[in-house]
Amino acid sequence: MWNPLVVDMVTAGAVMLELWDRVLSPRQRADIAEGFAAESEQSARLVAAFLAGVSRIGHASPPHMVAFGAGQQPSPAGERARADWQEQALRSGLPLPPAGARVRHAAPEHIAAAVLPRLTGCDCTGYVDGERCHDREHQGLYVAAYALNQHHADTLHADTVAKAYRATGGPAWDAVRAALVDVVAHHVGLDARTLPRLIRPTDPARLTAFGRLSSQSNGLSQGDASHGFASPHDTRDAVSERARLHAQQAVSRMLVAG
Ligand SMILES: [Zn+2]
Repeated sequence: MWNPLVVDMVTAGAVMLELWDRVLSPRQRADIAEGFAAESEQSARLVAAFLAGVSRIGHASPPHMVAFGAGQQPSPAGERARADWQEQALRSGLPLPPAGARVRHAAPEHIAAAVLPRLTGCDCTGYVDGERCHDREHQGLYVAAYALNQHHADTLHADTVAKAYRATGGPAWDAVRAALVDVVAHHVGLDARTLPRLIRPTDPARLTAFGRLSSQSNGLSQGDASHGFASPHDTRDAVSERARLHAQQAVSRMLVAG
C-alpha cells in the first residue's frame, strides 16, 4: 500500500455497499440494476460498489501523483506527510516522473474513462486505452466508464478521452492502476475481468442516479483524519477492515444528521 489513495478508493466502495444496504429503497436498487442491465440485483450491488471505488483511478497517473497534497494548506505536518509518502512511493516502485519533468495534464475523470475498460475485461488486441473496441460484449464497459464521473446526462466526448489517454503515464502506471483495481475488487468480492458478464448498460442517461451515489460515496469516504495515511505495510485485509468501519460510521452519521 503505497498511497492514501488506495484507502480512499476501498472506502468509497465500502460506503456504496452501506448506502445500498441501509439507505436505498427497493425501488432505487431496482432502478440502478435496470440501468446497468445487470444480470441480478446482487451483481448490480457489487458492481456499483466496485465502480464507486475505482472512479478515482485517474488520480493514479503522473499529473495527479506529482500534485499530491497540493490542495492542502502548507503546514509542517503536511510537508512531512508528503516527504514520507514520496519516500514510500519511490521505495515501492511508483513510477513518479523526475522532479522538474514536463507532465501532460488531463482531468482525473477523463483518465479514468480512458483506462477503465481495459482494466475491467476488454482485452481486445489492436485497441489502446481510450479507444472503443468493436466487441459487442464490451460496449457496456465503455458506457459505464464514460458515464462514471458524469453527474448529468452529458456524454463524454471520445476526443476528450483520447486526449486523456496521453496523460495516463504508460505501462508502468498501467501496472499501478491494475493493482489498485485489484484491491478494490478484492474488497467488494468480485473479479474485475468478469464485468462484461455482470452488467451490460447501453444508455448513459440511465446511470445518472448511480453517478450521484458514486460521488456521494467518494465524498463520505474522505474527511476522517482517524484513518490517516495508509502504511506501506498494511495488508489488503487490514485496509478492507478499516474501510468497512469508516464506511459504517460515515453512513450512520449521515443518517443521524438526516
Ligand atoms: Zn474489447
